[in-house]
Amino acid sequence: MSIVEADIHPDFLALLGEIDFDPEALHARYLVERDKRLRSDGTGQYLKTRGAFSHFDSDPFSPEPAPRAPVGDAVEAAVIGAGFGGLMAAAHLRRVGVGRIRLIDIAADVGGTWYWNRYPGAMCDIESYCYLPLLEELGYMPKHKYSFAPEIFEHSRRIARAYGLYEDALFQTAVTELAWSEEKGRWRVSTDRGDAFEAEYVVMANGPLGRPKLPGIAGIESFRGHMFHTSRWDYGYTGGGPEGGLAGLADKKVGVVGTGATAIQCVPHLGASAQRLYVFQRTPSSVDVRGNRETDPVWWASLEPGWQDRRSENFDILVSGGHQDEDLVADGWTDIFRRLTGRAAAEAARRLGRRLSTDERARLLELADYKKMNEVRARAAAIVEDPAVAETLKPWYRQFCKRPCFHDEYLDTFNRPSVSLVDTEGKGLERLTPAGAVANGREYELDCLIFATGFEVGNAFTERVGYEVIGRDGRTLSAHWAEGPRTFHGLTIHGFPNAFLVSRTQVATTSNLTFGMHRQIDHLAYMISRAHGLGHRVLEAEAEAEAAWVEEIRRGGLARINERFYQECTPGYYNSEGSAGNKTGFFSHTYGGGSIQFNALLRAWREDGRMTGIALR
Ligand code: NDP
Repeated sequence: MSIVEADIHPDFLALLGEIDFDPEALHARYLVERDKRLRSDGTGQYLKTRGAFSHFDSDPFSPEPAPRAPVGDAVEAAVIGAGFGGLMAAAHLRRVGVGRIRLIDIAADVGGTWYWNRYPGAMCDIESYCYLPLLEELGYMPKHKYSFAPEIFEHSRRIARAYGLYEDALFQTAVTELAWSEEKGRWRVSTDRGDAFEAEYVVMANGPLGRPKLPGIAGIESFRGHMFHTSRWDYGYTGGGPEGGLAGLADKKVGVVGTGATAIQCVPHLGASAQRLYVFQRTPSSVDVRGNRETDPVWWASLEPGWQDRRSENFDILVSGGHQDEDLVADGWTDIFRRLTGRAAAEAARRLGRRLSTDERARLLELADYKKMNEVRARAAAIVEDPAVAETLKPWYRQFCKRPCFHDEYLDTFNRPSVSLVDTEGKGLERLTPAGAVANGREYELDCLIFATGFEVGNAFTERVGYEVIGRDGRTLSAHWAEGPRTFHGLTIHGFPNAFLVSRTQVATTSNLTFGMHRQIDHLAYMISRAHGLGHRVLEAEAEAEAAWVEEIRRGGLARINERFYQECTPGYYNSEGSAGNKTGFFSHTYGGGSIQFNALLRAWREDGRMTGIALR
C-alpha cells in the first residue's frame, strides 16, 4: 500500500482498485488551474454578434431571401424554431389532430443547429440511434453509430417532408413579436418580413445554443485577414465541404480560437488542409475515445418494434444515474455516468452492504473522477508525440466541469509538423493586430482566424430569441421573467395562454437533448388533445402551480445541488464563467431531480387526467 492509499478508506480501495496518485495534490492543482482562469468580467468577456459584428451571424449557406408577400392568415399552431425541437413538436401536434401548423425560422430551411453547424467534421457525439428522432416512424437507418452533420440535416428535412411541414413554413423570417388576444383566443405572430398572422397555439422551440458569440479580444476590428465563426463556416474561402478537403487553405496560415466540442471536430480537417495551423487554447477539453462505426444492417433488421424509445430510454436512465440491466449504447457517455455519478455510489453501497454517508459518497465519486481524468490525461500523453505538447493538452478539472468530448483524430492532429498548439495558460488571446494574433506576448501572422468560441448562454430569453411575448392583459414575458424564468413544468406560463416552451428551462437536463424534448413534447401534445377532449380551446398555467414549480426549481435545482462542484471548476458556460452562485450557467434553471424523476412526474400527471394546475376555458 502506498503512503497515499494509507489515507483512503480500505472499502474505497476495494471498490476503485489501486490509487496511484495523490488526491489532495490533484485537488490543489485543479484549484490552481481554476484560479488562473477566473476573471472579473465573467460572461461579460464575450462579444455579441450584433451591430458592428452582425456579419458574423449572417447566413453563408443561402442566398438573400427573395421578396414575398406578407402572410396575414390564421393557422392552428405556430412553431418558432425548425430544429429538432420544433420539428418534433409539429410532428406530434399533427398526430393529435392539430391542423395547419406553421414553422418559422430565420434559417432558409429546417434543421436548426444542423442547418448552421456545417463546419468540416461536424457530427453528433450522441449515438444516432437515440439522437435522431422518429427513425422507426420514417424507416430510416443512420449510416453510422455517430452521425455526421449532413446526414442529420437531411434527416431534419425528411421529418419536415413526412409530416407536411414545408407547405406552411416561413423561412428566412424572424419573429418580432407574439401578442395574445383574449377576445379572439389567439396569438398574433409578427415577423420582420411584415407578416402578421394568427395562431391558436404557439410553441417556442428556439434552441439553447443558437446565437454565436465572439471573444472580446482587443483589436478584433483591426485584423485584416479573414474571420468567421464555426457555425457560419465560409466554404467559399476554405474550399472543401463538411467532409474536409479544404483546398482553399493549402497556402494559408490559419488560426482557431477555442478548443471546445466544436473545435475538437474541425481541427483535424484544418490540420490536414492548412499550410499552417495555430490552435489557440485557453483550456483543454477532456477528449476520450469515440469508436465510431458503420451501422450493421443485419443488427438493424433484427430490431423489434418500439426499439428506439426503449433504447433512448435505456441511454437516458444510464446517463441520469439510474440502473439498467443492460447498457445498450455502451459508449463513453454511459461509461462516465456509470463510474462518476450517483449510480456508482449506489453500486458501491450495494457491494459494501452498507449505506454511504454523504461525505463518503462525495469522496468516493471524487476519487473515481480523479481516476477517470487520469485516464483521459494518459490518453493525451500516449497519442501526442511531443511530451510538452501532450502536457498542455491535459485537462485539469473534474469530468463534468466542461462538456466531455470524444474524438479519435483530434489529439493526433498535434503530431502534424504543420500544426502548433498555442497554449495560453488559461489567458486566451491577448489581442489581434492587422497581421495576426498575439498570444503569450508573441505575434502569430495569420491569413484567417476561425472562432470556435461557442454560443450565447445565460442572457435573458427575450434578448436571446429576439422577440417580445405579450400575454394576457398586455403583460410582457420580459417583465414576467424579470427575476428569472417562471413556468409550470417548464412547458406553460401563467398569463401566456396557449403558449408552450420546448427548451432547457425548468425541465430536467439529459445528455441526449432530443430525448428530453421528445418527453416534453409528448406532454404538451397530451395537454392540447386532453383540453380538446374536454371541450376547451384555451389552456394556461395557474399562478399557484407556476409558483410551486418555480419554488421547486429554486430549492432543488441542479445548479444549487451542484453549487460547490461548479465553484471548483475551471470557468465555462456550465458555471457562468466561474461567477459565484452560478445564477446564469447552463444548468441554472434546471430541475434537480433528474430526467428519470421528471419524466415520471409528467407521466403521473397525465395519468391522473385532471390537468391539475392548468386552467381551461
Ligand atoms: P464552447 O463554448 O464549448 O467552447 C468555446 C471555446 O472557446 C472554449 O474552448 C473556450 O475556452 C474558448 N475561448 C473562448 N474565449 C476565448 C479566448 N478569448 N481565447 C481563447 N479561447 C477562448 O463552444 P463549442 O462551439 O465548442 O461547443 C458548444 C456546445 O455545442 C458544446 O458544449 C455542446 O453542447 C455542443 N456541441 C455538441 C456536439 C456534439 O457532438 N453533440 C459537437 C459540438 C458542439 P475556455 O474553455 O477557456 O472557456
